[in-house]
Amino acid sequence: MSRSIIWFRNNLRLHDNAALANACRHDQALGLYCFDPGLFRETAYGFLKTGALRLHFILEALENLQEELGKLNIPLKVVIAKPEIVIPELCDRWSIDGVYAQKEHTYEELQVEKLLTEALPDKTQLHFTEGITLFNPEKLPFDLDKMPRVFTDVRKMLEKYGEIPDIVDQPGAREAWPGNEELEQWPGWEAFGLEAETPDERTAFPWRGDEKAALERLESYLWESRRIEKYKFTRNGLVGADYSSKFSPWLSIGALSPRMIYHEVKRYEQEVKKNISTYWLIFELIWRDFFRLVAMQHGSKIFMAEGIRQKPVEWSFDPEVFEKWRTGNTGDDFVDANMKELQLTGFMSNRGRQNVASYLAHDLKQDWRAGAAWFENRLIDYDVTSNWGNWMYVAGVGNDPRDRKFNTQWQAEKYDKNRQYRKLWLD
Ligand SMILES: Cc1cc2nc3c(=O)[nH]c(=O)nc-3n(C[C@H](O)[C@H](O)[C@H](O)COP(=O)(O)OP(=O)(O)OC[C@H]3O[C@@H](n4cnc5c(N)ncnc54)[C@H](O)[C@@H]3O)c2cc1C
Repeated sequence: MSRSIIWFRNNLRLHDNAALANACRHDQALGLYCFDPGLFRETAYGFLKTGALRLHFILEALENLQEELGKLNIPLKVVIAKPEIVIPELCDRWSIDGVYAQKEHTYEELQVEKLLTEALPDKTQLHFTEGITLFNPEKLPFDLDKMPRVFTDVRKMLEKYGEIPDIVDQPGAREAWPGNEELEQWPGWEAFGLEAETPDERTAFPWRGDEKAALERLESYLWESRRIEKYKFTRNGLVGADYSSKFSPWLSIGALSPRMIYHEVKRYEQEVKKNISTYWLIFELIWRDFFRLVAMQHGSKIFMAEGIRQKPVEWSFDPEVFEKWRTGNTGDDFVDANMKELQLTGFMSNRGRQNVASYLAHDLKQDWRAGAAWFENRLIDYDVTSNWGNWMYVAGVGNDPRDRKFNTQWQAEKYDKNRQYRKLWLD
């Protein structure tokens, strides 16, 4: 009789989940998700690191995950606790042989991995598998230390020589778990110290945060509506659910696997149509990988004022100026509309993000890290490397040496000519 724990992190799914599949080599398995209390601490800017909309989204994913795991006889335990404390306790209590988790790559997550490794009982083996990225970061066609700075160079090498793993099969049911974790209450809103919020009904992301909804959206964006065929020409839109794929919130918590998207797009290209738009969706997923690799290459520099360029810039932080930006009261209607959308829904288009980030860093000359921290609080698709990487990039301390200042009123005129977007959020 052998037992395992699947420590769920940003892989809240059953499909293409290597950690889950490996854990299911044992006779009995227990699922565990930890809300690290550190996620709810106050930032240096006076708001919490994680906001209620993102929490709401994760809880939806966990509910669905619990239901699906239940069909495999795997209970899901959800706690507010540090993994490095709770996992060793569970290992002792249940005499666990192996703990399985998806590998993370950034500072706080690596710290937790280190502490957990030290705290586990001798008997228990800890296994990490890669699963966040499209390409396998363990088999890169270049030396990570020498990875080129510029996206295009990296993309070309990945496209030519990179390896995208096949989808991992979903495991079968385990023997019943001996405990009664499935009966335990999950922490309620009070336990997180947050007031519950639900997204505004004007949201561009009208779906639940779970794997089921993610797979349905993948199906509908490709096979039913065939919107993917026009993606390259609609992706700069601002209003509605369909101008872009909206995969990012599910990708960020791993309710959807990027490799699943890739293999579905390839199948679509073979069976229905291949064009510049089908290619472009994968192209954008490579941007996502790129920022992850940048973080792996540069470590915690991605969180520093001078970024990975180590460019000394005197950023200021004026709480009043920042507050106006944060709450959508700058007087620039395009920026304000986007900030209201973010505040009320936890989502904002890529076009909007570029503009508001540029406005904060280049027009208001405020510390870009405060903006990145606010995005971290609000975005339901918050992803540590996509967020901090894009912010660095726009602030001019990232990979691109060019000036990334956006003329927000010119952008509004081009992308919101009839003011439909601004009316939606400001009227
Ligand atoms: C300042 C700033 C902060 C951002 N913060 C985040 C974040 O926290 N989480 C996040 O997922 N994305 C972030 N992005 C990237 C991008 O805005 C979102 O991925 C995109 O808007 C999500 O919508 P979508 O899924 O419909 O994208 P689509 O246009 O349909 O793109 C498909 C997928 O490609 C990836 N992608 C697209 N553009 C980018 C990009 N610029 N960088 C990295 N990946 C990309 C995403 O995974 C996305 O789901 C940020 C961009 C900026 C400028």
